[in-house]
Amino acid sequence: MAIVRTTCNQAVRPLTATFGSRGWSVGGCALDDLVDRFGSPLYVMDEATIVSAASAFVLGLRSAYPGPSEILYASKALCNTGINRLIHELGLGTEVVSGGELATALAAGIPADRIVFQGNAKSPDEIDLGLEAGVGRFMVDNLDEIEALQARAAASGRQARILLRINPGIEAHTHEFIRTGHVQSKFGIRPGAALDYALERLEASRNLEFMGLQLHVGSQIFDITPFLEAADVGLDLAAELAGRNLPVRELDLGGGLGVAYTEADDPPSIADLTAAVGKAVAQGCERRGLPLPKLMLEPGRAIVATAGCTVYQVVAEKRTHERQSLLVDGGMADNPRPALYDAVYSCDPVAGRMGNRGDAPSGAESTWTVAGKACEEGDVLVKEATLPSVGGKRRLVLWTTGAYCFSMASNYNRLVRPAMVVVGDGQADLVRERESFEDLLAHDRLPLRFISPSPRPDLASP
Ligand SMILES: *Cc1c(COP(=O)(O)O)cnc(C)c1O
Repeated sequence: MAIVRTTCNQAVRPLTATFGSRGWSVGGCALDDLVDRFGSPLYVMDEATIVSAASAFVLGLRSAYPGPSEILYASKALCNTGINRLIHELGLGTEVVSGGELATALAAGIPADRIVFQGNAKSPDEIDLGLEAGVGRFMVDNLDEIEALQARAAASGRQARILLRINPGIEAHTHEFIRTGHVQSKFGIRPGAALDYALERLEASRNLEFMGLQLHVGSQIFDITPFLEAADVGLDLAAELAGRNLPVRELDLGGGLGVAYTEADDPPSIADLTAAVGKAVAQGCERRGLPLPKLMLEPGRAIVATAGCTVYQVVAEKRTHERQSLLVDGGMADNPRPALYDAVYSCDPVAGRMGNRGDAPSGAESTWTVAGKACEEGDVLVKEATLPSVGGKRRLVLWTTGAYCFSMASNYNRLVRPAMVVVGDGQADLVRERESFEDLLAHDRLPLRFISPSPRPDLASP
């Protein structure tokens, strides 16, 4: 089968996905073999697709923008020491939003000065962790955070460099739960009185240094326009602040580039985005007579989504008059996005549409619902998938699961989180072990007083 190589965020499958006599393979590893070895469900990440996407961002911005630039990986999309380290090795900084993500980035060996600490409600403990580690930037979301940061930095005699998160008042056309740049968003500081006050407080804060502005408009965005609008808002503010002797040395236009989850999705390529943004900021600075700030982007999904897939074991086929379903051994616990956002996914039988391991066709294609194993009616991974009957023993691969699946996974129904492997050149490396029942029980405590010294009266007797 011919491999169609498009840039990774426009393809549904990883760049190295191929179909042959052993069914679907990624990174030179047959998915069937991976599940035999590592169990099911299994998250599989294609190294080549991550490398391609990360490099496209770094090189794209570097060639389109004449000033300094940096790509920060928004690690909330997929946070794991192995994955974070791989992406850092490709030249990207890391953005974290919690103490846990910060600890993961540090454990991955990422230098603290390449870490940006985002988060709209950092606790005092998290602020202390960031200060102690010496993170490169704190992304400040609100006025109270300025007070808290100054107080804790002063108490420990440390300095912190600050980017202010601006709410640009831009509508990006994406799901309302992942739209963050509109005026009613809970994120960021609105330009005007609130920003003026924030800047006043910053100037008065001896331990804080103002570095610049960040504007993030949302996620899974299919249009370059909102990024250019954000650049305009940011540069207008930069021009205003330059007049007040508060140079915006860094301009961060956030993340949010969309990826294709189905063949019908057509997001801009990474190259298109970086070219447009680099050019817009360079020209915008020239027009306003501003020096070029360091330009940053914070992609998460567009780096890891397409690289990932999840392989499930089909446990049963169920046919009723109303619908026919494939019941799989995972679901909303390892991928809550369909239940949360009505997210749509594409899937294939691991053995392919032509039947087991490429031999005889295993029946005509028809419409199936792929349902998970959680005790929730909403635990449906794919509402309508066109598939052949795959039989209760076959496996199914859900594509484009690299972002916001593992990172949003839960232990609902006390399901263990699946293992994750990174594949490339025929090699598979475990970056996350499958959780065990011991892991599940490790934090439970059984208070002694719950255990009666003598049998309790029989409450059930009438
Ligand atoms: C979530 C988030 C990102 C990453 O978004 P993607 O859609 O995954 O690229 C970047 N910046 C901020 C501030 C975010 O909240």
